[in-house]
Amino acid sequence: MGLWFTEKQTEDFGITMKVNKTHHTEQTEFQKLDMVETAEWGNMLLLDDMVMTTEKDEFVYHEMMAHVPLFTHPNPEAVLVVGGGDGGVIREILKHPSVKKAVLVDIDGKVIEYSKKYLPSIAGKLEDPRVEVRVADGFMHIAESENAYDVIMVDSTEPVGPAVNLFTKGFYAGIQEALKEDGVFVAQTDNPWFKADLIRQVYKDVQEIFPVTRLYTANIPTYPSGLWTFTIGSKKHDPLAVQENRFFDIDTKYYTKELHQASFVLPKFVQDLTV
Ligand code: SAM
Repeated sequence: MGLWFTEKQTEDFGITMKVNKTHHTEQTEFQKLDMVETAEWGNMLLLDDMVMTTEKDEFVYHEMMAHVPLFTHPNPEAVLVVGGGDGGVIREILKHPSVKKAVLVDIDGKVIEYSKKYLPSIAGKLEDPRVEVRVADGFMHIAESENAYDVIMVDSTEPVGPAVNLFTKGFYAGIQEALKEDGVFVAQTDNPWFKADLIRQVYKDVQEIFPVTRLYTANIPTYPSGLWTFTIGSKKHDPLAVQENRFFDIDTKYYTKELHQASFVLPKFVQDLTV
């Protein structure tokens, strides 16, 4: 029959999938890490019993986190990923020829280690010479950085455990300092069905710091409710005003330049979180 794993979103709702086997399980210094083989979605990384990524649908999240801000910026050269130890966002960043350096700062080296071992199609570009991997707290890295990055992506766990500080106004203010004068940042901001208050609060905080603030969505089947949000804060460039000649052909499975625009068209109940 196989085992069934459920990520509970509330006491009354969860997302369930069949697991063939467990490759690895351990309590790291920061979180519970499980790497399992699912029947439907390939290998899957869980942290504290929450789905982080699966081999089959990871491209949606990683492409949408990377390409929307990277095409918004006219010439991204220095890029930072906070979290993202599975390497998926880095893989997408490296598809942009303007990028000279991509720094990844994940607090948990075990995520990087086991992603390389069991998720090679996702983590395979972490060895690229343009990539610098640091095992450190992203909050501290941001606090110590000034005028350093063109684009910053916050690919964090949900606001529990080590990621709590990554959803604070102080962190977004630090990002503002860490970005160059026309920098762009994006953060994953969970789902509007169960985390509406979080999305509303983050949007308000970012709006108080950045002149351009936008919310966009993507459909990710293995994340609770399937509808996921990303919040952009930008010092100058508007993701909805990218010049047509800025786009170039890119090898993707979800992101297109048309979807870049369309992902900012929000259902009314999601749009209401931004006013
Ligand atoms: N895509 C996933 C999602 O939305 O569920 C998240 C990806 S997972 C790779 C997020 C990563 O954030 C984890 O590897 C975790 O170790 C890292 N993380 C959590 N708190 C952090 C912090 N304070 N600094 C740096 N990385 C952190």
